[in-house]
Amino acid sequence: MKLSRPLPIDLRGLILLFVLLSVVATLCNSLYVAYRVQRDALIHATLEANGAYAAKVASSIGEFLGAAHNHLNYGATVLGDHWDEPGALRKEAMRLQAQDTDFNSVTILDANGQVLQAYPDSLQIVGATLQSQGIQQALKERRPLVSEVYVSSAGNLVVFVSQPVFSPSGAFLGVVGGSVYLLEQSAFHTVISRHFHHDGTFAFVADGNRRLLYHPDSKRIGEVLGWSLTVDAALRGESGTLQGDNYRGVPMLAGYARVPEANWAVVVQQPRERSLAPLAQLMRDMVVGMIPAGLLGLALILAGTALIARPLRQLSAAADQLAAPDTTERLNRVHAWYRDAAAIRQAMLAGVQLLHQKLGQLSHEAQSDPLTGLANRRAMDAALNLLDQSGQGYSVLALDIDHFKRVNDTFGHDAGDVALRSVADILKQNSRSGDWACRSGGEEFALILPDTPLETARMIAERIRVHLEETEVPQVGKLTMSIGVACRDAETATSPSVLKLADERLYIAKQSGRNKVV
Ligand code: GH3
Ligand code: MG
Ligand code: MG
Repeated sequence: MKLSRPLPIDLRGLILLFVLLSVVATLCNSLYVAYRVQRDALIHATLEANGAYAAKVASSIGEFLGAAHNHLNYGATVLGDHWDEPGALRKEAMRLQAQDTDFNSVTILDANGQVLQAYPDSLQIVGATLQSQGIQQALKERRPLVSEVYVSSAGNLVVFVSQPVFSPSGAFLGVVGGSVYLLEQSAFHTVISRHFHHDGTFAFVADGNRRLLYHPDSKRIGEVLGWSLTVDAALRGESGTLQGDNYRGVPMLAGYARVPEANWAVVVQQPRERSLAPLAQLMRDMVVGMIPAGLLGLALILAGTALIARPLRQLSAAADQLAAPDTTERLNRVHAWYRDAAAIRQAMLAGVQLLHQKLGQLSHEAQSDPLTGLANRRAMDAALNLLDQSGQGYSVLALDIDHFKRVNDTFGHDAGDVALRSVADILKQNSRSGDWACRSGGEEFALILPDTPLETARMIAERIRVHLEETEVPQVGKLTMSIGVACRDAETATSPSVLKLADERLYIAKQSGRNKVV
């Protein structure tokens, strides 16, 4: 099985990465949602305000026109009674103009459009016949009227607010009207511009032909708009709000309303960008407001990931050295405080136990003699090495079965093997827990006795010799063995010399008749 190469990042890094990513994503999303909600709220509020503002301006203009019509209506009644008295006409014209400053001038015309009186008559038009469109319309329609915008004979941009004059008998006599010069600081201007705001909001008024009657940019007054969704909607009699680009492509938030008295459209609008100006500050405040909680959250995340990752990190470190002797202890020290970590630790503990068992078994197999189960030559050398290094005292018994060749010859090799096992058992029975019983080769054995003086070793050897001598070995009967004993001392400081001495003494035992301890 091919293992894929892991990413060079640990669990804590991963958790941190994902948590931070999701937190950042959530934060961005919250900010975006907040931004949208605030933006929509601002737009909604601006539209509402502009709609209400447009309605207010429209009703103010309506009131202005209504008042003008009332004044003119009263004047028309007076004039109807005194139509043939030029003095009275002049007096009334003066009174009307002075009554309030609605009109830049008051003009009285007869049914043919000839000026009977004008006040102030700075242009000296008395006696002239006026052909201008507004006046022609008023003469024709014979009802209270607000004309469309036109250029007066004097070159002024004018709307003409007029009232028909009838004789007491009801005959049409003419028209009395007030001119409002759109380019001047008229009362009309005052009515609209008192609503002027400083946040980029402005109002404009257009007549039924989309001609601008009022605009804060006075150069545009008189201009006919090519198109305007707001003006068109207002002229259809609707009032409401609208988001859209103005004629320059600038996005606007507009409210509109109609002045029914004159079929004019009032539009109040603010560049969208201006109305959203508070948004940046709002968002800044929000981000700043989120910082303390954000830092706290970050600290919690760092602490949390450290806490979650710690047991797994410790487990992973232990996994790097599974074969080490203290691994079980290290695994037990891991604080596996949640289920997955505990399960992994449990599995690792079981694995480590199995591993150590297997290793122990392997080393046992490598170090023991398969026939007798005693330590083999290699294990014996290793044990002697350890003793040499530790400087500890010890004795060695070199044992050899007497005339074993004969046993093989007489009873067969298998019976010889059984006999070897019996001898091994006797050795085991006669050794203490710290002793090492070894099969050093063939029918030769050794017994290593740590911390045992020569005399004690000799007694043990004697006991073994007697034990074998008295034992009825299966299939073989009686057997004896010769034993050479040596111990570590000044002359025999290392194990080869101790072994050599023991072998020499074994040889002596053989020479001197066998079944002996030397
Ligand atoms: P001595 O009293 O001088 O020790 O005589 P011996 O016959 O015991 O001496 P020798 O060393 O000449 O013979 C050892 C014999 O041990 C030779 C061999 O056949 C036998 N032997 C060695 N290893 C084994 C074994 O694993 N199994 C059996 N059955 N016999 C073995
Ligand atoms: Mg031998
Ligand atoms: Mg022998």
